Amino acid sequence: MQEDLATLIRNTAAQVRARDFMWAVGISAGVCAALLIAGLADWRIVLLTWLAFLAALAVRYRFSSGRVWAAPVQRIIETELNVQEAELARLRMVHGVARVLPEPLFILDADGIVEHANPAALDMVGLSEATGKHFASVLRAPIVFDAAENVLAGKEPESVEFTTPGAVERTCRAYIAPIDPGGGNDRLRALVFIRDLTTERRLEQMRADFIASASHELRTPLASVLGFIETLRGHAKDDPEAQEKFLTVMQSQAERMQRLVADLMSLSRIELNEHVPPRERVDLSELAQDVMESLSPLFEAAGAIVDFTKGDDAGTEIRADRDEVFQAIQNLLDNAVKYGGDPAMVKVTVGRGPAPTPFTDGAPAHRAGDSAEQVAARLGVSVGELVYVQIRDFGPGIERADLPRLTERFYRVNIERSRKSGGTGLGLAIVKHIMNRHKGGFQIESRLAGGTVFACHFQHAQ
Ligand code: ADP
Repeated sequence: MQEDLATLIRNTAAQVRARDFMWAVGISAGVCAALLIAGLADWRIVLLTWLAFLAALAVRYRFSSGRVWAAPVQRIIETELNVQEAELARLRMVHGVARVLPEPLFILDADGIVEHANPAALDMVGLSEATGKHFASVLRAPIVFDAAENVLAGKEPESVEFTTPGAVERTCRAYIAPIDPGGGNDRLRALVFIRDLTTERRLEQMRADFIASASHELRTPLASVLGFIETLRGHAKDDPEAQEKFLTVMQSQAERMQRLVADLMSLSRIELNEHVPPRERVDLSELAQDVMESLSPLFEAAGAIVDFTKGDDAGTEIRADRDEVFQAIQNLLDNAVKYGGDPAMVKVTVGRGPAPTPFTDGAPAHRAGDSAEQVAARLGVSVGELVYVQIRDFGPGIERADLPRLTERFYRVNIERSRKSGGTGLGLAIVKHIMNRHKGGFQIESRLAGGTVFACHFQHAQ
């Protein structure tokens, strides 16, 4: 118990005791005087009895301290304080939970006034303080306020969907439930809990778009194969030359479908694991050289010249899923050979820190994706702790408007060109998802007639 409270109790007890003492002295003196006047006792006996009573009181007063008198009161207060402290700790915990909750939460009193709004709620409504304000003026969603009023009037909990106005429209769902204050206080409060459904809805839309475009991509080669089968059965039945030609086309269409299915499966596999941090320790420099070696027949067939440089002697180990990073580098190298001029000249560089700036002179280059500085800031490390692999070609480059869309599924600058070179339009989307899983950054820089540079930044594994 607090020291000054204990002293106060002791002093109060001492004052009460002093007053009791004076009363006792006064009353007993009065009784003695009455006995004497009535002649009921001898004055010496009365005086002696009174003096003995006084001495007994003085002894009790002298030797029992204020603490003894105060002890029972102190015990009662201490018990009460312990109960209140436990209640306070519980309230603090509830308050703390509401504070760290990433979802907005409001508590309204019986009149619809905001009693509490957690930081996520303040962030959502763009206010620094909402306590004491009317809920209708805080959240501009009449449907939510109406539901809160119903709940405050004693109706069942409600759940309503609403959109927030503003530059970026958000779809949310509010759950409104009554809070019974208990303890004889019969005025209800309402809890308003809000979930942002924008990302969920966007994902649903993306999934629907994806299924639509994937089936569209498969439908074309499938229709072509079916068409050729019909021709082979019909008027080309007895024409070996036409048969050979059609079978070649059918084979290439079937191979395209095979590539498409393989890419779609690998994309969904990567997406499925995107939340699982990769654990293997991989040397990015060795890995890039392994990819180059495995692609050497392709380089040779395309007449491409691919050159490898290691930035400096600093370590280039990263925590990674080896197969995924292998696939990412392979996709970028494959693209550089396909789109990086005829024949392509490709430079692969691996090193520590930020990847070298590719276009330092002349006409402006365009950029999309995360720079090394952004990746480092996101990871909370210095740029020196990054490891990069950069793939540069000296081809025709990419238009500025196309750059930010390249990592979208099935986005191709030139569909005919992509199809002819066996592309599926999923290569860069796969790279992007692999980089997301590795918490790395993927950047594309390009200059028309100057070539394109892809850089992947990872955190260095100590
Ligand atoms: P695709 O299977 O069509 O190659 P990607 O997702 O790998 O699909 O690439 C998307 C598009 O980006 C390609 O169709 C191409 O137009 C463009 N692109 C990719 N890499 C390069 C590059 N190195 N130079 C120029 N354009 C490129």
